[in-house]
Amino acid sequence: MREVRKWRCGFCKKDYYNKSYCKNHEDKCYHNPKNKACISCAYNEKTYIEVPENPYYAGAISYKEFDGQYCAKYQRWVYKMDTKERNLEIDCKGWKDLG
Ligand SMILES: [Zn+2]
Repeated sequence: MREVRKWRCGFCKKDYYNKSYCKNHEDKCYHNPKNKACISCAYNEKTYIEVPENPYYAGAISYKEFDGQYCAKYQRWVYKMDTKERNLEIDCKGWKDLG
């Protein structure tokens, strides 16, 4: 047995055993603000749907379930859970820093 060294993306926490692979990933990572992707944008809003009855716990009236991510700038789904619609932008002109 021996100890191994890993490299971690500074934006999404993904691990790599190879430093240059990690660097390549970081350059393209959707969480890297440099790439102006939906995930790191202030206009990206998580949406929830109200589920009337919680099927897993008796007694609970309703709960909110994650439903997707919506772009408030261009008024369209970034990701929609039920339809699996995906519109992930990279180098988006409307991108805004979370700052
Ligand atoms: Zn990453």
